[in-house]
Amino acid sequence: MNAHWQGIGFTSQRTRERLIQRLRAMGIRDERVLTAMLNVPRHTFVDEALASRAYEDTALPIGHNQTISQPYIVARMTEALLAGRPLRRVLEVGSGSGYQTAILAALVDEVYSVERIEPLLRLARRRLQDLGYRNFRFKLSDGGSGWPEHGPYDGILVTAAAAELPEALCGQLALQARLVIPVGSGQQQLQMITHSEDGYQRAVLETVNFVPLVRDEH
Ligand code: SAH
Repeated sequence: MNAHWQGIGFTSQRTRERLIQRLRAMGIRDERVLTAMLNVPRHTFVDEALASRAYEDTALPIGHNQTISQPYIVARMTEALLAGRPLRRVLEVGSGSGYQTAILAALVDEVYSVERIEPLLRLARRRLQDLGYRNFRFKLSDGGSGWPEHGPYDGILVTAAAAELPEALCGQLALQARLVIPVGSGQQQLQMITHSEDGYQRAVLETVNFVPLVRDEH
């Protein structure tokens, strides 16, 4: 283990293991997800002033009125995606802090991530580079339109709530691929859309609370 992670206190191995125990208790079963969440240092994705809370199971502010998602929700969404077809290429909409991007980069071959707020994107890119990841690409744009040039994707994960299901994203799913997305403007449902030969099947995973997916004017 790297000395940097052996420190005592809020970023210690024990503090992180407590979070993993909590995720297990809440029903997360996929060991690949639990291992990634143990290893990716969430405290490096928030402001230093909030680092002491990074291994609590809670969303935290990241500036620009946005939040880094609650660890349980990151785990739940990642687990749902991994249970589908093998993930070579994944699209994320809403890079934010880059934490979910890093979790995906630890688990799949290539991650494409789209964000509309430039300073967040720049910070996220820097953090992934500093952690040594090479298998990611970011783009500044309205992710409601996806990133068609690199599709179709083996999985798409959206980390902001869409008022309605964005059709463009469904169109970028490979066969048997899954789209995991919060949908709704008041009460939001975490939905999983699977692309099959017969069309698109919808399953509702749970009630969630995300910042809105903002559609830019074209
Ligand atoms: N996955 C992030 C969650 C960030 S919150 C994390 O772990 O930190 C949601 C993010 O979605 C915000 O950064 C917000 O700017 C972004 N977002 C909202 N609407 C968007 C859109 N239409 N296209 C791309 N990003 C969007």
